[in-house]
Amino acid sequence: MPESQELAAGKFSTWLISTRTALKKDSETDVPCGECNACCRSSQFIHIKPDEKDTLAHIPEELLFPAPGLPKGYVLMGYDENGHCPMLKKGACSIYEYRPATCRSYDCRIFAATGIRISGKDKALITQQVQRWKFSLADSEDIKEQRAVQKAASFLTNKSKLFAPGELPENSTQLAIMSIKVYDLFLEEGEQSIDDTKRVKAIMQTWERFDAKGEKL
Ligand code: SF4
Repeated sequence: MPESQELAAGKFSTWLISTRTALKKDSETDVPCGECNACCRSSQFIHIKPDEKDTLAHIPEELLFPAPGLPKGYVLMGYDENGHCPMLKKGACSIYEYRPATCRSYDCRIFAATGIRISGKDKALITQQVQRWKFSLADSEDIKEQRAVQKAASFLTNKSKLFAPGELPENSTQLAIMSIKVYDLFLEEGEQSIDDTKRVKAIMQTWERFDAKGEKL
């Protein structure tokens, strides 16, 4: 398939609810990647939690190192001199059945949905893939929700100075995910009139609530 060809990303509102559910439950996402393995070839550090025992049993110990700032047992897997994951063999994941939860939940459509650009020159392959995704905006719900997600992303990106140091994630993936978690604050048509300071407070509260265990979507 030519790399410029469009890829159907699905109906926006359907994608949004399933993505928010997966983020809430920390579960796997169903991404129609086809033959794309750009995220396995883009110099990514893969986080692996201590309870991912099957995964850890299938990765040679020498490829793992302690994850900075996290408790003992949390590890990272790096990449080779070409930026490829060491478990990528002959163009395919050699431990697919046992791949880390990070890989199972990765969905580069978050960048197409939010309009946030993935940071890093070494992420060009993912950027190309992101440009191919096209969401279906079949009804007014899709349009309203995509607009709200993009407004959330734009607020977090352009008004980052309003947040206290350390409050916002630094990496573009986490910023896109945060936009998806707090997008509902941007759904109302008249929300432009809301004071920025109140908006920042509401964003932080919504974000914490989303991540709180037991809280419903
Ligand atoms: S573990 Fe498999 S799916 Fe995950 S980055 Fe490596 S090759 Fe890709």
